[in-house]
Amino acid sequence: MGLIVAIDGPAGAGKSTVARAVARQLGFTEVNTGAIYRAVTLLAIEQAREEPDELQEIARTLVLQFEGALVLLDGKDVTRDLRSEAVNKKVSQVAAVPAVRTELLGLQRQLARAHPRGAVLEGRDVGTVVFPDAEVKIFLTASAQERARRRYTEMQFKTAGWVLPSITEVQASIERRDALDGSRVVAPLRPADDATVIDNTNTSLSDVVTEIVSLVRATISSYDAQRSDSRH
Ligand code: C5P
Repeated sequence: MGLIVAIDGPAGAGKSTVARAVARQLGFTEVNTGAIYRAVTLLAIEQAREEPDELQEIARTLVLQFEGALVLLDGKDVTRDLRSEAVNKKVSQVAAVPAVRTELLGLQRQLARAHPRGAVLEGRDVGTVVFPDAEVKIFLTASAQERARRRYTEMQFKTAGWVLPSITEVQASIERRDALDGSRVVAPLRPADDATVIDNTNTSLSDVVTEIVSLVRATISSYDAQRSDSRH
């Protein structure tokens, strides 16, 4: 199996941008675990199902593919639908259902292991639950104000044609999701004990990418050195 890089952190901390750039520089695959929870939520909304056993069934039978930056659900491009306000509002509730989380563990591990070199996974519990033995663990965070500012800017580009919420609404929505994700009983949002915490409120995401790539390269070098020591 390849090397696992876990990037966890609150909503809007820049995890997706960073994970994508790190994966590209290292030639690893990228797994956006939030998209998986969002896909379950989208189906739940479309099918008007919300009982735990119904949500578990949706998670169990999920047919999801990642094609570059696109997410296909049952073969249909749902990339944009996954970021809708309706999904934003509901996803933390769906993600708090223990049976849903258990059901999705296998899929996340399988997507990561499909790549021989390694994978960068971003989410909330990758370093604590999905891959507690990940070789590199990062907890990426920034102030709620800065995260809202970035999300708001991003929305202007990505949601053309939608009614845009105000920046205050974006911050409230982010904070509400953080509170729900951080207080749930199963796999709450928190840094793993052995994670490197990076607060990027005042640093650029490209500096964060450089820092993480260096950490991964140092880890690879130390494994190579250990391997060559054990041969001599
Ligand atoms: O990362 P993103 O904002 O797309 O995640 C959407 C939601 O999915 C999070 O707010 C959280 O409720 C849930 N999630 C999770 N565990 C993960 C990734 C996402 O509970 N590993």
